[in-house]
Amino acid sequence: MSEVQAHQPSKLSKNPSSIRSVDVLVVGGGVVGKACALGLAQLGLHTAQVAPGIDKLIAAPAGPQWGQRIYAFSPSTQKLLARLQIWDAIDQSRMQIVRDMRIFGDRGQQNDSLHLSAFEAGTPQLAWIGESNLIEHTLDQASRFQSKLERIDDSLDDLKIDADGVTLHLHSGIYLHAKLLIAADGANSPIRSLLGISHSEESYEQNAVVVNLTCSRAHLETAYQWFLPSGDIVAMLPLPNQQVSMVWSSSPEKADYLLKLDQSEWAAELSTLADGAITQALGQLTINSIPAAFPLRKMRASRFIGPDDNPTVALIGDAAHVMHPLAGQGLNLGLRDVATLLHILGKRESFRPINDKVLLRRYERQRQGDTSALLWITDKLKKLFSGTSTTEMQLRNWGLGLVNRSHFIKRRLIERALGDVDFE
Ligand SMILES: Cc1cc2nc3c(=O)[nH]c(=O)nc-3n(C[C@H](O)[C@H](O)[C@H](O)COP(=O)(O)OP(=O)(O)OC[C@H]3O[C@@H](n4cnc5c(N)ncnc54)[C@H](O)[C@@H]3O)c2cc1C
Repeated sequence: MSEVQAHQPSKLSKNPSSIRSVDVLVVGGGVVGKACALGLAQLGLHTAQVAPGIDKLIAAPAGPQWGQRIYAFSPSTQKLLARLQIWDAIDQSRMQIVRDMRIFGDRGQQNDSLHLSAFEAGTPQLAWIGESNLIEHTLDQASRFQSKLERIDDSLDDLKIDADGVTLHLHSGIYLHAKLLIAADGANSPIRSLLGISHSEESYEQNAVVVNLTCSRAHLETAYQWFLPSGDIVAMLPLPNQQVSMVWSSSPEKADYLLKLDQSEWAAELSTLADGAITQALGQLTINSIPAAFPLRKMRASRFIGPDDNPTVALIGDAAHVMHPLAGQGLNLGLRDVATLLHILGKRESFRPINDKVLLRRYERQRQGDTSALLWITDKLKKLFSGTSTTEMQLRNWGLGLVNRSHFIKRRLIERALGDVDFE
């Protein structure tokens, strides 16, 4: 794992002639940035969100083809989106409820598996599966009616921290000032780098190939995951209309090979995968979207706020942490950053300004435990299931069976998957 030192805080190159001022600036236009900007405006804070193309409304997905970016949404995400008045506006016919999760080890033995069930856990569902553009479209719609939120199609070039906040210099030459800056600018966060916040980073030397498939057997509202002896991980997430979204984590070479397959070659590849167990569960699989691949890594910023001497910036989402998608939790974790930040700002003592150091330190403290636990567990699972020694193989398969037989551990696992969120 490498520790990456970023640059020292920079100075803006020239003095701005006129500076526009808002309460909070959010840089980044992914789901995390959009949810955060909307939530801040709903708190009554004058908010400006800056990202390339952020002024354009993402079109609602429609028709029989599902979008390329599919996410598993945890109940903590549902709770935040409901609080933002977004959840009920989402087209539920394009969302799939998950009631069961089945995880299989790599020895092919009956007992090497784990079954998590909503029914057994006494909860209506374990998760929802849906398209990124469905959520983004709904967030965009709500943002258009939010008078406190301004969306600026631009990108950040530089920033300067001063006594009462932060000044941004945008690519178009505009200067903006705010009391508080939220960095939702993704895994390669320019803000993290401009502030000199270091991060630790490790490549998994795997790419995730994602593609949507139609299955000839009902998926029974079940999310499946197979760990394979090669170290590959195949997840099949259920979608409406008897479809599944596949996330196949494999070596970059194998991922390149998969991207070049035609329809019949995909069918042949999938029929033998996991010794035929996948087609046994889901029937014949036919691809119905263009496959894409994403490199996988783990990343964690050393601080979630900055700069050290005068915290004025909070890092959220992938700007603060990136994890392997095997647990489907990266976005959910980022949205829990948003929920915590909104909660702290919304409930702040009346004498505290929104950029009070105490508030930012509260945010960082409250997000550390959840982030460390999820990063640790996904990393350890990934490594345990890619180990090639006999001991590692026995341990992981025995472990799955053991957890499956323990009601107590299963309950704790489900609680973690559901996510806890302090957002009233
Ligand atoms: C294969 C795969 C499957 C996944 N599945 C799941 C899942 O099932 N569930 C889940 O919870 N998570 C999942 N994740 C994780 C999830 O995709 C990410 O955690 C999430 O997309 C991060 O969102 P974000 O808004 O923080 O960052 P991003 O979506 O990366 O957004 C960053 C934004 O910052 C903007 N930006 C960058 N630089 C600048 C600049 N200089 N100025 C202005 N704007 C800038 C960009 O334009 C962009 O709008 C998965 C990830 C992968 C790779």
